[in-house]
Amino acid sequence: MSQSIHILPPVVANQIAAGEVVERPASIVKELVENALDAGARHISVETDQGGVRRILVRDDGAGIDEADLPRAFARHATSKIQAVEDLFVVASLGFRGEALASIASVARVEISSRTERMRMGHTMAMAGGEVLFDRPVAHPRGTTVDVQELFFNTPARRKFLKSERSEILAIDTVMRRLILAEPEVGFELFQGASRLQVPAGDMNARLSRILGSDFLASHVTVDERRGPLRLHGWVALPTHSRAQADHQFFFVNRRVVRDKVVGHAVRQAYRDVLFGGRHPVFVLYLDLPPEQVDVNVHPTKHEVRFREARDVHDFIFGTLNRVLRDVRPGESPAAWVPSSGVSMAVADGLPAASPPSAPVQSRISLTGGGARVPTAWSPPRVEEPAAPVPVSRDPAATPPMGYAIAQLHGVYLLAQNAEGLVLVDIHAAHERVVYERMKRQRLHDGLQTQRLLVPVQVAVSEQEADVAEAHAGTLADMGLVITRSGPQRLTVREVPLSLTGGDVLALVRDVLAELLAFGQSTLVEERQLELLATMACHGSVRANRPMTLAELNALLRDMEVTENAGQCNHGRPTYRTFNMDELDRLFLRGR
Ligand code: ADP
Ligand code: MG
Repeated sequence: MSQSIHILPPVVANQIAAGEVVERPASIVKELVENALDAGARHISVETDQGGVRRILVRDDGAGIDEADLPRAFARHATSKIQAVEDLFVVASLGFRGEALASIASVARVEISSRTERMRMGHTMAMAGGEVLFDRPVAHPRGTTVDVQELFFNTPARRKFLKSERSEILAIDTVMRRLILAEPEVGFELFQGASRLQVPAGDMNARLSRILGSDFLASHVTVDERRGPLRLHGWVALPTHSRAQADHQFFFVNRRVVRDKVVGHAVRQAYRDVLFGGRHPVFVLYLDLPPEQVDVNVHPTKHEVRFREARDVHDFIFGTLNRVLRDVRPGESPAAWVPSSGVSMAVADGLPAASPPSAPVQSRISLTGGGARVPTAWSPPRVEEPAAPVPVSRDPAATPPMGYAIAQLHGVYLLAQNAEGLVLVDIHAAHERVVYERMKRQRLHDGLQTQRLLVPVQVAVSEQEADVAEAHAGTLADMGLVITRSGPQRLTVREVPLSLTGGDVLALVRDVLAELLAFGQSTLVEERQLELLATMACHGSVRANRPMTLAELNALLRDMEVTENAGQCNHGRPTYRTFNMDELDRLFLRGR
């Protein structure tokens, strides 16, 4: 049975559009708060009832809407933010599609009250199911109040898709946290039943600790980097502050919350070397770039973006974070470190810069920086054992940052004394890090070693993948993968990195090609090799419970001072902690 073609009534068209824009109450909160931000609000308050299903009330002190404009605010494709499609590429506002209010008003009862600077009295207008209910003057301060009630009252089928009240409340909370971090200069309030979240304008530390927990403040590094028109700034947690879920990750592109795979990939790669075992990094990062370099009109909810120079963006993010993360090392106090309170990692305590130790231990394991050969596995140095611990002065300039060993605790921990107080080291974890970094340097020094396969491996791939392999043959060879095309959908692998010959070459090649296809570059080979090194380092490190001499312990401390990433082991756990004298005094309620 065929029916004649007819134009859908506006309310139905809006309800269909609402399917994309209004997925759940949290999406309404997002759209309304973004409108308030676009209107220049300095303070925004959000209240919800029953997870937003019964009511969402958003108040702002922004520019307001003129009485004559009110009906248009409700109309589809009605916006004050752009004129022509070219404007999309210079859009500075969060909204521009002009469909949020129309969509919301088609699936809920909506009342908007507003007053602009030049209106003597406010005006209010209510709509439900596409019909105007009333339109009249009202007393209202400058700004706008949007009151949304009974979501999906006229589309019961969609109502059934709503989750429990609890989970809608959580979703709204999540949306608000993102917006709060996106706009540090705006004050926010969120009331959901008994729960309230309030942040004053400006105080970024309060926001960070409210949203990421107070320990974030003690264990993060500040990032601020520019390259050409790109700027990346914000805060990244130390790998030791990682989480089991990816729930504390905030990335903003031109102040817009986005989930972008180029960005996600770059961040993951930067952390890969310091974070294993399914741990997720914590970060709040802002990428700013000229609006014409990013297309924001990719998705109705504007969660996705498209970069014009995706590869540059990827490189910039990865390069910046990678450098920042490896700059963390004991004995240094980068200006970026925020002083912490209480017991914390030494790096966060702002230890003085490393000064050359006065060589109390004659022979220390030499870590060759200049590319000389170093042993791949650590063996204890044979030295003259000092009879007693080296005396330590309280002058930071006269003592190495990690101090000198006093004793070994049950074979597991190293106790040392530095100018500030006590240093406690997890011997195995610290040693693993030292060995791993040494093996990496060794690898750099030796260069890439490859193995020519006696029997080349044939790989069946898609035509697109074969094209990529051909186009990137040089890059692949640099990674140690010599691959030639042997058919439209066929590749022949002739040479692989020596260290990876034991693994699944087919799977590796496929993954590398997939990465090249998606991001124009791949660091998978490197990653696999590092993973392998990490496993070797773990096995090659001092096991707990082995008694060590003071000289060996001191040698480990010296090694830690010169090792990159020494603050955490290969599994993202901390390798050491410090307790300065003040902290110890406090522990014993000792007033000084
Ligand atoms: P968009 O934000 O994409 O323009 P919306 O449907 O969200 O579309 O809003 C339509 C128009 O209503 C906006 O362009 C703006 O002019 C006006 N508007 C909506 N909310 C507010 C507000 N809180 N303050 C001032 N103007 C608003
Ligand atoms: Mg909008």
